[in-house]
Amino acid sequence: MTDRTSELAENLARVEARIAAACTAAGRAREEVTLVVVTKTYPASDVRILHGLGVRNVAENRDQDAAPKAAACADLDLTWHFVGQLQTNKVRSVVGYADVVQSVDRLKLVSALSVAAEKEGRELGCLLQVALDAESGERGDRGGVAPDGIEELAAAVDAAPGLRLGGLMTVAPLAGPYAGRQRAAFDRLMDLSTALRATRPAANMVSAGMSADLEEAVAAGATHVRVGTAVLGVRPKLG
Ligand SMILES: *Cc1c(COP(=O)(O)O)cnc(C)c1O
Repeated sequence: MTDRTSELAENLARVEARIAAACTAAGRAREEVTLVVVTKTYPASDVRILHGLGVRNVAENRDQDAAPKAAACADLDLTWHFVGQLQTNKVRSVVGYADVVQSVDRLKLVSALSVAAEKEGRELGCLLQVALDAESGERGDRGGVAPDGIEELAAAVDAAPGLRLGGLMTVAPLAGPYAGRQRAAFDRLMDLSTALRATRPAANMVSAGMSADLEEAVAAGATHVRVGTAVLGVRPKLG
């Protein structure tokens, strides 16, 4: 094993143990939670090592970095998630490698993704990113639709060829009433998911929790946690 391989193996084992303990504490089966490793700012060689260690879900937040990385790893059976704010002029590129876009937060993006997915002849999974601190009709500072905009966006994805509504995603707010209250934020996301699933039972993915707060997300009922730093190390400032 190279040094980097053993470092990643150790980090991954620690994160696995945290997820398993959180599942046990919440009375949930470990299989209910999927680990998505956020590989942003780290090289394709790390993605390859992670694949060798059993990781099958990876996430990126910038198309410029993600596109060449995904191309370099095209021989690996990986599910690529896009989790960053997405400009419509990057959509075509992203749809070329992403299996799931977790950051769908406006109608214009839904139509652009639909056109691109149709052109590629494939079905793209979409999660609606919810900004729990956004006012009605607005978007969050780091992207995301306000809770009262979910229904309109969900209906648009339902009607869009090439797209499949997978569920909801959030990033715990840094400001506003949920600042520092991750568990309350994730409970709120679960309530919104319950409402969404009342009419769309298949849209059952709930993506919440990162390195610092994955336990709170698992306790609240998240199906996907997105972990970067705790697996790969502290990123150089940028990502
Ligand atoms: C970077 C990122 C993560 C991972 O954050 P860590 O704190 O490094 O685990 C999760 N979700 C999104 C949307 C991100 O951009």
